[in-house]
Amino acid sequence: MEPMQKPFVVAGPCSAESCSQLERSASDVMSIPHVVMIRCGVWKPRTRPGGFEGMGEAALVWIAEIKQRHPDWRFCCEVARPRHVELAMSYGIDAVWIGARTTADPFSVGEVAQALKGCGIPVLVKNAPMPDVAPWIGAIERFEAAGVASVMAVHRGFATYRDSGLRNSPLWDIPIELRRLRGDLPILCDPSHIAGHSDKVGHIATMAMAMGFDGLMVEVHDNPSEALTDAEQQLSSSQFASLMEMLRMPHDDEAVAEQRLADLRLAIDGVDEQLLLLLHQRMQLSKSIAAVKRCYDLPVLQSRRWNALLSDRLARAERLGLSQQFVKEILEKIHSESIRVQIDDGGKRDEDANQP
Ligand code: PEP
Ligand code: MN
Repeated sequence: MEPMQKPFVVAGPCSAESCSQLERSASDVMSIPHVVMIRCGVWKPRTRPGGFEGMGEAALVWIAEIKQRHPDWRFCCEVARPRHVELAMSYGIDAVWIGARTTADPFSVGEVAQALKGCGIPVLVKNAPMPDVAPWIGAIERFEAAGVASVMAVHRGFATYRDSGLRNSPLWDIPIELRRLRGDLPILCDPSHIAGHSDKVGHIATMAMAMGFDGLMVEVHDNPSEALTDAEQQLSSSQFASLMEMLRMPHDDEAVAEQRLADLRLAIDGVDEQLLLLLHQRMQLSKSIAAVKRCYDLPVLQSRRWNALLSDRLARAERLGLSQQFVKEILEKIHSESIRVQIDDGGKRDEDANQP
């Protein structure tokens, strides 16, 4: 495979359903600039039994047939077992991806990594469903240890029990942390599985490209309403074409952009410094408050004050046009840290007082 193209866009149906459906969808996505590979599920992991579980080897036969007609088209599919790898390789698949459920299981990852040894194809590793960077990095390392030269990460969002209006929560700080820890690794975003609905795919894809992701993996079906899996979230070919038109893909003028960003980054450094000083000041105040509470035997947690504080700050945040959810999460973090500091500080003072 040639060096990684940027942006690296993988697109195609959630599942390969028939040879004609696959070829039509593939032909549509391959006509769009930046699309380097066609995705299609061959074995489909389903959360609940009874659904369409993929066509298996029959789909690989179609892929091989289509590749004969279009030798420059590249295909990737999900593999979850060593047997999937063997079959996929025997039909000339160009790359594979590791699904979220597989990434979560180190034994499966280890077996699939061994099976991929020496295959020489790229491996795209989706994050595990749990909101943690560690299983994702662990899986990536297992493929690297097996000698896979081209490993890419795919951010597909994280499982959430709350109804956030999206299928999976993006928790952008996790892929950002992956980028911080592994700056060498290309990271794609799968906006389809984050969004869960075709209406929201564009918004997530735009955010990902704005945050400097290296590309996308998007589900595109030539007739989404008839799709056997993930019908709600697959884009039609024309929706995908409009999305790719609309996305501002990064261009080469990076030096100019860097120059313009430098001043703004300096200003951000200044603001962050102030934020840290203010947080320090706030924790010092918590310690003073702890001393008063201790003196009058008052409990550390004062629910009435906390409720009043929260509503006051949220109202102020609203007037400033800040997201309520964002400010609430920050205040909750500050509040629990303040409680921890007050309790710890009290404990330390008691210990000191008991010193002979
Ligand atoms: C898929 O890409 O079709 C898929 C099953 O994804 P995930 O593993 O992210 O759920
Ligand atoms: Mn899918």
